[in-house]
Amino acid sequence: MALRKYVVGNWKMNGLSSDLAEIQAIADGAKPYPTVDVALCLPAILIDRAARMVTGIPIGAQDVHFADNGAHTGCTSASMLRDAGASLTIVGHSERRDGQHESDDEVRQKAESALAAGLKVILCVGESLEIREAGNAIETVQAQLDASTPRVEDASSLAIAYEPIWAIGTGKVASPSDIGEMHSALRERLVAAYGEAGNGVRILYGGSVNAGNAAEILAVADVDGALVGGASLTAEKFVPIVAAAASS
Ligand code: PEP
Repeated sequence: MALRKYVVGNWKMNGLSSDLAEIQAIADGAKPYPTVDVALCLPAILIDRAARMVTGIPIGAQDVHFADNGAHTGCTSASMLRDAGASLTIVGHSERRDGQHESDDEVRQKAESALAAGLKVILCVGESLEIREAGNAIETVQAQLDASTPRVEDASSLAIAYEPIWAIGTGKVASPSDIGEMHSALRERLVAAYGEAGNGVRILYGGSVNAGNAAEILAVADVDGALVGGASLTAEKFVPIVAAAASS
């Protein structure tokens, strides 16, 4: 089933008030491609300003706490993100799984809490280079997905991002055949979890996607979009990826 392409920028820890004009430039640049869903996940502190000042693009977060409120110093809940104007969030990015020691179970709870609050969710999974070289990538990432998949009736607001850790920010990209094999393995697990609705959950690829490689990656079967880090910071780099998605 061909799903609408979804191209999402992850700004990581980048972005100040002075970048709001660039965010608007990205939104304006994406306008001629209405067949593609485009969103930008910003640092939490910039969400409110971007949601108020930028038009034409959904603004998202990069993480969320699973609790709705309480004694969680420095954290942000799904209802707070909604209140600030976010309409989506990433969960389980490898930089959080590794850097903040987030477990699959915690990622699952975050996804469930975000969906319950009405946020769309992009749930990231992916293997380390060590696991890929040992030949265990497929089973490892399937198990990661099984354990972090939100236990919800309605998966229509969920998307998955397959991001091999060794490809993030390194300039290395998984081969089209490895991407296709992984996405089809993840599709199997989504159908196991959600039945026929699992075929409607978009699976994005992430890991050094740029204007030069986007068309080839987006042409792979079961690649329903891209999660883009470095190349999402400027309209000049990001809009050609959106254009590639529109023609794929
Ligand atoms: C990411 O941050 O999710 C990512 C894929 O980064 P990059 O595109 O820079 O590899």
